[in-house]
Amino acid sequence: MTTMKALVKAKSEPGLWMEDVPLPETGINDVLIEILRTGICGTDVHIYKWDAWAQKTVPVPMVVGHEFVGRIVELGSNVKDFKVGDIVSGEGHVVCGRCRNCMAGRRHLCAETSGIGVNRPGAYAEYLSLPVTNVWHHAPGIARDIQSIFDPLGNAVHTALTFPVLGEDVLVTGAGPIGIMAAAVAKHAGARYTVITDVNPKRLEIAKKMKPTMAVDVRNTSLADVQTELGMKEGFDVGLEMSGNPVAFRDMLANMCHGGKIAMLGIPDKEFEIDWNEIVFNMLTIKGIYGREMYETWYKMTVMIQGGLDIEPVITHRFNYTHFEQGFEVMCSGNSGKVVLTWKEEE
Ligand code: NAD
Ligand code: ZN
Repeated sequence: MTTMKALVKAKSEPGLWMEDVPLPETGINDVLIEILRTGICGTDVHIYKWDAWAQKTVPVPMVVGHEFVGRIVELGSNVKDFKVGDIVSGEGHVVCGRCRNCMAGRRHLCAETSGIGVNRPGAYAEYLSLPVTNVWHHAPGIARDIQSIFDPLGNAVHTALTFPVLGEDVLVTGAGPIGIMAAAVAKHAGARYTVITDVNPKRLEIAKKMKPTMAVDVRNTSLADVQTELGMKEGFDVGLEMSGNPVAFRDMLANMCHGGKIAMLGIPDKEFEIDWNEIVFNMLTIKGIYGREMYETWYKMTVMIQGGLDIEPVITHRFNYTHFEQGFEVMCSGNSGKVVLTWKEEE
């Protein structure tokens, strides 16, 4: 076999196309992975819709997709610590290995990352070739669907564990798939109250399945009221910004305690103003979060799932990859949780 099915950004216009493309080559430091399942990410939706970010970032043609689980079918000659048949996912950021941060072991801070399914061929395909340094070997006993969304779960875990949450009151703005998972992680990690907000009732319904303290529609309930209801007096200790929405972020700033810590994952589509006095006089810390820590986040995801963290309810739709259009339609509606595509049925 020399070709495979892949979902390709084939033209500079909205859409994705199922095509036959050459099988990727397996370099001496790579492994070849047969893809079993993939998740659809908001990034893939940007590429599908072909918005301004996608147009300036993604070269065409490009095999897209970066959330996956698969099975190793071939090893490069230098690869000794994996074997054929291993079930793996992959870190989607391929780092340079040579910059100051990479050399110091802070690979998540590499300034020269290349993203699979964005800058280099991705995982919406029957096979993916990946440098062995990016391969994560799954522990046994984790459900296949959960394995397929380790990448976005990693965003949630990285953000939620950036600041200590044990005993703290945590505010999550944005009940998208990542916000919902982050709320579950904060709760699992010992937060006293976990409050998640959105403006979309369908999203809040999904969030409630994770049993946060409160899932709040901020169109009709203010965070000040929430604080009163919970008997909170000084504001939230930790904020996880997961909406990218300026209104949500300002609302968060206004409801933090003095000395509060904010981890910001949400990506605003443009610049916006905030009242910096709130940062200064309340001595707030704001930290930007990108991707996952290599590989501490991956380790934490694994052990938290083994320790009982259940994120299954965030997966709301499953399709065969040939029905990818339905998957993207659901994602574009904004009413889904995670959508998983099956590439290969297993016995
Ligand atoms: P999503 O777009 O599915 O979810 C965002 C949610 O925020 C939506 O449900 C939306 O209704 C809600 N929202 C809008 N206005 C709001 C308001 N005023 N208050 C509260 N909620 C509001 O996104 P996702 O896939 O869950 O990802 C979360 C965010 O993280 C996005 O901004 C995404 O672009 C970003 N992201 C960042 C990284 C990174 O590495 N930094 C990686 C993945 C995603
Ligand atoms: Zn680097």
